[in-house]
Amino acid sequence: MKKNKIFEFIKDLLFPRKCIICGEVIPFGNEDKYVCETCRDNIPYINVKVCEKCGRPLSENETDKYCLECTAKHRTFDKCYAVFPYEVVREGIKRFKFDNIENLGIGFSKLMFDYAKKNFMDEFLNFDYLVPIPIHEKRRKERGFNQTEVLVKELSKLSGIPYDNEILLRHKQTKPQNSLTPKERKDNIKGAFFVNKADLIENKKILIVDDIFTTGSTVEEAAKELYKNGAVNVCVFTLSIT
Ligand SMILES: [Zn+2]
Ligand SMILES: [Zn+2]
Repeated sequence: MKKNKIFEFIKDLLFPRKCIICGEVIPFGNEDKYVCETCRDNIPYINVKVCEKCGRPLSENETDKYCLECTAKHRTFDKCYAVFPYEVVREGIKRFKFDNIENLGIGFSKLMFDYAKKNFMDEFLNFDYLVPIPIHEKRRKERGFNQTEVLVKELSKLSGIPYDNEILLRHKQTKPQNSLTPKERKDNIKGAFFVNKADLIENKKILIVDDIFTTGSTVEEAAKELYKNGAVNVCVFTLSIT
């Protein structure tokens, strides 16, 4: 065994790698470091009819192109592509964000890229920039990294689409959205972002990347700012949707 192999082996013994989908321990030497063999054979991507606006699976009483929510209100972004139903990646996302396992984001971005290849590759490669949803400096210090930046960095590496994490910045520290009602979420996030490099996005197509789409108020606020500053098209690519 080479030295780094031995190091990897010891690390795996001490901190066994767990599948980012089902949480099962992945045996050492497995080719895929992020997804176990069982899940690999059947990755639970969203594969039903979805709302053409927000990407959420349509329910039985939603027979139109759009879900009831997107029919009732204006979305500031052009279109959202969602990869997983939130429930199937909830535990993995929690470990990624709150146990500070930055590495898991790489596994998730590989799955996002695989999903893009299967479902919207032509549109995907048309974007000029990938832009992560920024977090406040204080939260970044606590967590050590911005989870959506990890996703974007790897997606950029895989696709060749440039990313810039200083196009959009956050100057307002907001309360965590998950404890709020839809109306409160909207007010909470209002004015949270500003565009820092407007010259870069003028007439450009931007793909915002986020990890969880709940009501959409965060990405809507971000899209609004990007459009206001000259972007010609703004879409969203989210790892999961509730
Ligand atoms: Zn698994
Ligand atoms: Zn919708």
